Amino acid sequence: METTRSEQLFKKAVDLIPGGVNSPVRAFGNVGMTPRFIASASGVYLTDADGNKYLDYVGSWGPMILGHTREDVLEKVFEACKKGLSFGAATEAEVEMAELICSMVPSIEMVRMVNSGTEAVMSAIRAARGYTGRNKIIKFEGCYHGHSDALLVKAGSGVMTAGVPDSSGVPAGATEDTLLAPYNDLEAVERLFDTWGSGIAAVIVEPVGANMGVVPPKKDFLEGLRRLCTENGSLLIFDEVITGFRLARGGAQEYFGIQADLTTYGKIIGGGMPVGAYGGRRDIMEVVSPVGQVYQAGTLSGNPVAMAAGLTQLRYLNAHPEVYTHLEALGERLYGGMEKLCQELKLPYQINHVGSLGCMFFTEQPVVDYTSAKSSDTKAFAAYFRYMLDHGIYLASSQFEAMFLSDAHTDEQVDETLSIMRNYFEKTVQ
Ligand code: PLP
Repeated sequence: METTRSEQLFKKAVDLIPGGVNSPVRAFGNVGMTPRFIASASGVYLTDADGNKYLDYVGSWGPMILGHTREDVLEKVFEACKKGLSFGAATEAEVEMAELICSMVPSIEMVRMVNSGTEAVMSAIRAARGYTGRNKIIKFEGCYHGHSDALLVKAGSGVMTAGVPDSSGVPAGATEDTLLAPYNDLEAVERLFDTWGSGIAAVIVEPVGANMGVVPPKKDFLEGLRRLCTENGSLLIFDEVITGFRLARGGAQEYFGIQADLTTYGKIIGGGMPVGAYGGRRDIMEVVSPVGQVYQAGTLSGNPVAMAAGLTQLRYLNAHPEVYTHLEALGERLYGGMEKLCQELKLPYQINHVGSLGCMFFTEQPVVDYTSAKSSDTKAFAAYFRYMLDHGIYLASSQFEAMFLSDAHTDEQVDETLSIMRNYFEKTVQ
């Protein structure tokens, strides 16, 4: 595969941008490579600066649930662009977006648009603290909630890949109210409530862990969190930046039948544009400025071009429930196929998946939390990743990220992917 242009660009980039990238996991460092610079995308394919084409299982880390460069999305974006790129004023599209989100997710009565998942989570935590008058929050090891100070503790994802448990530059004071529990460990959460009960403003959780690889919630884990929050007057925050509008029309809350008090979004609701949102019960959301005393603002929040992209994608999802049936079936085909492959070739690896999200852990141990995820052989992952990339399959360049299927993927593409995986493992097993 010719990669000269990507290499030239990377050489220049590292001189100008920290690590050559604008988000760490893009750097391919932990798989011992330099990144491919992407020039364009269409459907489920990416094309790099040297003209190589890849079947994409990253989907911009989640937003592209319907595939890249859809005509309907682009048309609405172009239409919006012609009317003005930003007004810094209220628009009809924002009302339509809020109405749509509230209609798709029963626990949400009011919603505020922001510009990223990080901002959404940071603001939701502030609202929870403002509403309850308490400071402590519980987060789970290996869950990533963006890069705001209070949440950069055992934060999974890129931090995990870099082998940095916590970021430097975060003052100890910023995380002193962040309590940690292992994912899927309800007893640990109970103990935290026993100790800190009336001081805990909120429990924040990824309803499916998707930033330490994919880690499904054990039966009763989310239900237990719901119960403990209700009993202790704390708020349950579901971080649905990945699962929102992906697992089901109503996200993880519909998928698992549990309602959160506050929910955070990003990715899919922007259709590929920089967007985030947080929402929940009216009485909670009314603490947010200018109604209440919790300040939160944004020059570009609710940007009309971003709203056009997000609304078009979300409206399509709302009107086409068969997308979710398709995603479930594709997930079964891909991840089920990977499981079968492991059985046939006697590979002692773990395949974890929920719907369209999944991953392979290179470990013999069932992966249920951050500690077991870390038992994965990242060198074995890196070799697998390199082979797949060389054979035109674009996976997330880290053991601790998910594979993202989109509605634009086909059975044939999934089967082709499985057969490339089979070739790789047959070669390495022998
Ligand atoms: N929350 C979760 C669950 C995420 O996966 C991410 C990003 O991947 C974020 C929050 C932060 O979102 P953003 O990268 O848009 O700031």
